[in-house]
Amino acid sequence: MLGLMMNEPLRIAGLLEHAAKWHGETEIVSRLAEGGVHRYTYQQAHQRAKQLANALTALTIQNGDRIGTLAWNTHRHFELYYGISGIGAVCHTINPRLFAEQLIYIINHAEDRFIFFDITFLPLAEKLAPHCPKVEAWILLTDRAHMPETSALPDIRCYEDLLAAHSAEFEWPYFDENTASSLCYTSGTTDQPKGVLYSHRSTLLHSYAAALPDCFDCSARDVILPVVPMFHVNAWGIPYLAPMIGCKLVLPGPGLDAASLFELFENEKVTFSAGVPTIWFGLLTFMREKKTRFSTLHKMIVGGASCPPALLKAFDEELGVQIRHAWGMTETSPLGTVNTLKSQQLRLSADEQFAIQTKQGRTIFGVDMKIVDDEGRELPHDGVAFGDLLVRGPFIVRDYFRSPHPGELTADGWFRTGDVATIDPAGFMKITDRSKDVIKSGGEWISSIELENLAVGHPSVAEAAVIGVAHPKWSERPLLVVVRKAGFEVSKEELLAYFEGKVARWWTPEAVEFVDELPHTATGKLLKTKLRQDFADYIF
Ligand code: ADP
Repeated sequence: MLGLMMNEPLRIAGLLEHAAKWHGETEIVSRLAEGGVHRYTYQQAHQRAKQLANALTALTIQNGDRIGTLAWNTHRHFELYYGISGIGAVCHTINPRLFAEQLIYIINHAEDRFIFFDITFLPLAEKLAPHCPKVEAWILLTDRAHMPETSALPDIRCYEDLLAAHSAEFEWPYFDENTASSLCYTSGTTDQPKGVLYSHRSTLLHSYAAALPDCFDCSARDVILPVVPMFHVNAWGIPYLAPMIGCKLVLPGPGLDAASLFELFENEKVTFSAGVPTIWFGLLTFMREKKTRFSTLHKMIVGGASCPPALLKAFDEELGVQIRHAWGMTETSPLGTVNTLKSQQLRLSADEQFAIQTKQGRTIFGVDMKIVDDEGRELPHDGVAFGDLLVRGPFIVRDYFRSPHPGELTADGWFRTGDVATIDPAGFMKITDRSKDVIKSGGEWISSIELENLAVGHPSVAEAAVIGVAHPKWSERPLLVVVRKAGFEVSKEELLAYFEGKVARWWTPEAVEFVDELPHTATGKLLKTKLRQDFADYIF
């Protein structure tokens, strides 16, 4: 027997429709790639998203067609999120930080019909266009006044002209909630990038989950500034969450340096933010130099890479900002776990609480997880045993877009994350490594992340990476590669001594090497494959 409730499909356009109707006056503020700050309301954003929907329909965009974006976090990108998905097409957010060959591969693989791009990316678009023959036109996200005089692009159009030519009379269509809504490719550090194709249903369920108190805990009274880009995993769902709860949204555009961010945080009275650790380290240094504090920011999500305990402590103690450490990936929409304490843990000492908070956190409803050994046997939740982390749920990938091996990815119902983790008795998951980065020394595993977190706690260390290097006796031993802070001196011996008493003796790195900079992926993560190549012939 089926239930007798209304069968209203979950649709992305419904989020903006809701915000326009019930939070119509609430603002969306954005810094633009052309310069200046733009502000309008949800009501106006909705009107323009409907104009865009009419424009796309006139361009013969059909259900399921892919449309690419190469854009910063701005109100126009926000309109694309809704206008494209709202008519049943797929909003393909492209990460402009990827290498040109990867971008060409991605655009051709997705068969994007149009690409909307910010003026910053004009030279990039000109470089890509000759290699992307299926793109019918390149649409610049700007007004007539900012259109370039000449461009090597074969068919370049102006976004504001496109919108101006269409009315805001539009009824968002109804379709199956499992319809594809947006597409994001993983950065693929070793392999070709792989497309994760989200649906309206997965996106809305993820938004409900993100809004929960033990997750982002945001409300209509918040002002949210996503530092995390809209071109990578939908800015962790914030462009959907904000209209759902009706809060003010502040979009930083290309201004991701500490000074610009701080100015926007203060001017717009931002209360909540989200981003990767590197951004917050930059902001922390800036705040220390300026001897200043935030007047309204009080909570933020840090994820995408392990949040070093030193960062958590500094934001909490020096700046009065609570960091919630979170874990996720493109394939998980991306939220998988978020770290907030359970009531019984509030009785623990501050140090004990802190030790818990440095973990990646507890799973949220909608994500089930387990850790398994090499034979696929489930491991205990004792906080010690570590194994491959597997997840499943309604906003976890089932298959990659146009996969050559459909059905194989999650044949047993679970998605293998490629991360290695422990889970403690209270359910807190801790990433110890990516499976390919684990260091196997004398048959035992050493966590490179744990050693890196410790190393960046040293006052002279700006950034650190630990990799396994072949060793005649132990098969592999950890090598610590360090970038020193400008103007700081520290010797190799001092750094090694710093690990004493903090980790088991055999975990202490075998050696230290200093470098000027470490290699990073397009999304700012340590590129350990490159580092392992660089130090392949290293002799301890
Ligand atoms: P990509 O695979 O394209 O680099 P993602 O952005 O999807 O992209 O990255 C997901 C990976 O990032 C995770 O599998 C994990 O290894 C790492 N990661 C994300 N959040 C954390 C975190 N809080 N701590 C440690 N690693 C993290």
